[in-house]
Amino acid sequence: MDELILWKEKLKEKGIRWTKQRSALLRVLLQIERPLSAQEIFIKLKKEGVNLRLSTVYRNLNCFKSNGVVRNLNFDEQKNKFELIKGEHHHHLICINCEEIRPLDCPLQQFETEVDQETDYAILEHRMKMYGICPNCQKNNNDL
Ligand SMILES: [Zn+2]
Ligand SMILES: [Zn+2]
Repeated sequence: MDELILWKEKLKEKGIRWTKQRSALLRVLLQIERPLSAQEIFIKLKKEGVNLRLSTVYRNLNCFKSNGVVRNLNFDEQKNKFELIKGEHHHHLICINCEEIRPLDCPLQQFETEVDQETDYAILEHRMKMYGICPNCQKNNNDL
């Protein structure tokens, strides 16, 4: 996977050693394009026959986090999810039932400029999350 090689370079630049474990973690995060918890990554790797301890997954995710490779999304204290920081600003659409998370493009750039001008604030950031019920969960509900 070409993208994985790019991340390998990125880690090198940040002075993070490239290990089999870190490569496996990044591969999963790249493959499944949504934020994942350590537990989810652990299970996915296990299914692929890669046996890492859950504590190893946590340790490496925390290393990634403190080096700006992933960010931590605290949707629920018990379910910290991690996503790769790819540089672009975006938002999240979250299913309240199964907690699937999809990225959304930002629709607020224009609005931010307007607020900035109207209020004389220097706007630094904004956050928006949208919640709903994903197509899958809607379908499953109809089946009941
Ligand atoms: Zn759902
Ligand atoms: Zn935005």
